[in-house]
Amino acid sequence: MSQPSMSRMTPVERAALASVYAARRWQVLRLAVPGLLIYTLVLVPVSSVALAASTLLQMLLSGALFGVALWATATRRVELAAQLALVGTFLTSVIITINTGPIDGTLQSGTLVALTAFLLPIILAGILASPRVVVVVTGASFAFSALLLAVTPLSANAQATLHLRVNALLVIVPLLAQMGAGFLSFAGTYGFRRMQRDLADVRLAYAREKETEQLREQFIASVNHELRNPIMAVQHYLVMAQTLGSQGKLEEQQRMLQSGTEVAERLTKLVQSILEIRRLHTVTDLDLKPIALAPLAWQAARMLALLSPGNRQLVQVQIPNDLAVLAETEHLQEVLGNLLANAAKYSPPNSPITIAARPLSLREAQVLRPGRLPAEKLGFVEITVRDQGMGIPPDKALIIFEPFVRLSRDEGSPVIGSGLGLAICRANVQAMHGDIWVESAGIPGEGSTFHIVLPRAADQPPPTRRLDGKGAEHGA
Ligand code: ADP
Repeated sequence: MSQPSMSRMTPVERAALASVYAARRWQVLRLAVPGLLIYTLVLVPVSSVALAASTLLQMLLSGALFGVALWATATRRVELAAQLALVGTFLTSVIITINTGPIDGTLQSGTLVALTAFLLPIILAGILASPRVVVVVTGASFAFSALLLAVTPLSANAQATLHLRVNALLVIVPLLAQMGAGFLSFAGTYGFRRMQRDLADVRLAYAREKETEQLREQFIASVNHELRNPIMAVQHYLVMAQTLGSQGKLEEQQRMLQSGTEVAERLTKLVQSILEIRRLHTVTDLDLKPIALAPLAWQAARMLALLSPGNRQLVQVQIPNDLAVLAETEHLQEVLGNLLANAAKYSPPNSPITIAARPLSLREAQVLRPGRLPAEKLGFVEITVRDQGMGIPPDKALIIFEPFVRLSRDEGSPVIGSGLGLAICRANVQAMHGDIWVESAGIPGEGSTFHIVLPRAADQPPPTRRLDGKGAEHGA
């Protein structure tokens, strides 16, 4: 079972994971926000030295914040609700701390205890937000508390009741508690996020494996059907031809034999494509050499024209003459051939196909395929094969590279296929230290773009002769 990583998720899978995160945060918010509203409305007046107009204003402000947070939770605006709950609890902690003395210019012993209120936004950040937000909230709490303790003198009353050692302890303990909560929250969120990601990876791998298995079974059933029907048809044509021969109807016998031959040809193609499976296991240590790309692409375009003479597909080659890759000729030829053949098979006749290539810096390649390509000194080359055919649904973009997988749309269609072409392309490209993937909106007519990235080789001198799409040779 192959393990997909986050960077290899399709957009659909990434959106599904994001919705799992959002659902979990919403569950927490549904319980936490009403509780936080009550906590604020009780603690703000209790912490006030005197119930003044300013206390009412504070209650109004934090009440309004949590009121909007309640509305956001009820309407499932998860991001907004989480932000408001965090800002609200931080603000309440500031109000509670200031109300216990500094609002009158001195620190009371209760102020030092009130500083522990900052543990709440720190822990909440751990539950609702990311490790980065935990760091920001802990930093802000610590900075605010330290500044408050540094600039506000201890009241005479507090000095009289607390002796020096207790004073020092009371200053250190809330600050240490904030730091401790910050570390714990950070570790908790970080660990939880990793675990969730790993779990998501396992679930995804399982779902993909199940889907691959299903498509494989579907394919085997359809191959079974596709093999049985032509064999029976050939048998029928032969018996009929024999009978017609014995009756002396030679012209009709000839027609039967002709039909039998056509069916047998289709059968041979199908069997041949299934036997391609052995090629999947033969791609190992390749002898990689600098290869000029343009002539190879022209050759693949010419082969396409030769193999399907009835189908006058227009292949445009847009590759700089001197661009070269580090590859193995036969394997790269096979990849380009398969991709062009697919582009032709799954597009309407005469629709354009483009094969293009451009150099890609190491940085660009790593942005495009994070963690999937080795560090190559000369950078990479990106080859694209674009068609305007039926397209591939984005959620099937990874699975079609598995052996024996065909889209259900193409099962039982007149388009012959074994579901092996792309698996062979992937094996070849990976053996050449590259990567292959497809982009498509899955909308018929908008087509698909297959991308291959291969290590770049030093520029090759332009070839003296080149081939065009119709197979004619031209001077360079
Ligand atoms: P096949 O022999 O069936 O063509 P491949 O492995 O080459 O096998 O392709 C797997 C499946 O991916 C195909 O059966 C088809 O459903 C889909 N596919 C491949 N290339 C294209 C394309 N250019 N446009 C649309 N669908 C494609």
